[in-house]
Amino acid sequence: MTKICPWCEEEIADNDKLYESIRPSHHYECGIRMVMGSVAHQTHRCGCYVPGSTLHDREGVSVRQAARDAMEMFYLLRTIEKAREGDV
Ligand SMILES: [Zn+2]
Ligand SMILES: [Zn+2]
Repeated sequence: MTKICPWCEEEIADNDKLYESIRPSHHYECGIRMVMGSVAHQTHRCGCYVPGSTLHDREGVSVRQAARDAMEMFYLLRTIEKAREGDV
């Protein structure tokens, strides 16, 4: 049975890592993107933070690729956060 990721609407392959906290299952990166928001959102440059900003997911890439970008940004910010905590 073919499973489709509700976020990017691409097929979920047997060896894809899944984001299990939400049902139905999403690709891991798509789950992170849904929960944490786009790169622009995580870096506070989107319309939620900057009035009039239309920044959202990167244009010209697939929904899933934008989700991977968001996941990388999430890990990057988390690493920076941990490093800061270590400074104290
Ligand atoms: Zn997906
Ligand atoms: Zn936002």
